[in-house]
Amino acid sequence: GIVLGIESSCDDTGVAVVTTSGRVLGESLATQAEIHAAWGGVVPKLAQEAHEAAIDGCVEAALSAAGVTADQLDAVAVTIGPGLGLCLRVGVLKARQLAAAHQLPVVPVHHMEAHALVARLGATRFALDAAAQTAAGAATATHQAAAGASGSTTSASAAGAASLGPAAPAADAAAEPPPAALVEFPFLCLLISGGHNQLLLVEGVGQYTQLGTTLDDALGEAYDKVARLLGLDLMPSGGAALEAFALEGNPRGMPFSVPMQRHANCDFSYAGLKTAVRLAIEEHAPEPSEANRQVRADIAASFQRVAVKHLEERCRRAVQWAQETHPEVRHLVVAGGVASNLFIRSQLTAVAQRAGLELVCPPARLCTDNGVMVAWAGVERLQLGLEEAPPAAVELGEGEWLDLRPRWPLTDRKDPRCFTAT
Ligand code: ATP
Ligand code: FE
Repeated sequence: GIVLGIESSCDDTGVAVVTTSGRVLGESLATQAEIHAAWGGVVPKLAQEAHEAAIDGCVEAALSAAGVTADQLDAVAVTIGPGLGLCLRVGVLKARQLAAAHQLPVVPVHHMEAHALVARLGATRFALDAAAQTAAGAATATHQAAAGASGSTTSASAAGAASLGPAAPAADAAAEPPPAALVEFPFLCLLISGGHNQLLLVEGVGQYTQLGTTLDDALGEAYDKVARLLGLDLMPSGGAALEAFALEGNPRGMPFSVPMQRHANCDFSYAGLKTAVRLAIEEHAPEPSEANRQVRADIAASFQRVAVKHLEERCRRAVQWAQETHPEVRHLVVAGGVASNLFIRSQLTAVAQRAGLELVCPPARLCTDNGVMVAWAGVERLQLGLEEAPPAAVELGEGEWLDLRPRWPLTDRKDPRCFTAT
């Protein structure tokens, strides 16, 4: 079977065509980072307009890259939440129009489920290759010249993407290596993105137990805010810019403390660290300039070290809990936009390995928002019969009735046992 997936929940318009066996036949992505960088955050109205301008072209591009027509599809999957209502509406409307025109079932997808499940798509395992080790090693060492280190960051992410195979026409796709064994349920999952910071036990599609979540900011949000305070160029994202800039700094240059060390649970908090960083910037580098570049880099590196230490501590506790309660867990999946960070990958690889688990991260281009993850979540749901009947064209009209879920928790199920004594 072949599923087309549409993502438009935030500032990326993503469309992809994926087979039920996990082959990516074609994909297309229109990012709006440049539009929003100027405003210091996503402006919903501008995002909506950019999605509207991009959506038809993205669908056509993904289909033509895949070498299929809409009639050959078996379903259309689309993110219905959580996200910005104005943006979700653009993707959902397009999905339903396409489905109505070609009498295809629609699979409604939860954006965070798509981030998590894409780790089960074929050969997405992250290998800590030489390039990644260089970049991560540079971040742990005290100092490192920027040029060489950031070069290896780029090549490592490119290698990650290549291991999945680039978006290719159907003819070339046949030459792709067969997908690796699936990450089986149950697995532990750390979702780190612009709006979410969650530790989950994933026992099946739609079966999530929340072990911890953020009490304030998500890590991606914290990266974005710190990048802005440091006056970095926010392309392609604040997080990616900060990761690269941190390679120039001393990770122990600033004495930030690791959040929530007295709370022996799996929750997260980044607001206090963000305030500490803001105060340090006000004190040492109130205006970004070349003269204070080194101290800003030290702040960036120290922020990253402490923020990631917090992730490590929470993951270590979750892993310990999982091994006691669900010994069949074999994988720690780290997904969401922030999971493309190589320093985070290498630190969490160590946490997983010490416990005998395998760390699985999607390649960087599947960590940030994209159409492939939505199409794949659609495949997983379709296989369980969780699709909706094709919509009738007559219902579409102004689309006022569309089922959008801007606020939509992934699960109500929480496990308070994920505590250890201090
Ligand atoms: P959500 O998925 O919670 O709805 P979102 O879709 O806006 O939020 P994603 O696209 O999943 O978020 O991730 C974007 C976030 O990832 C941004 O905050 C961005 O700064 C961050 N990010 C991207 N690359 C990196 C990186 N290399 N290091 C740290 N953060 C990164
Ligand atoms: Fe996302």
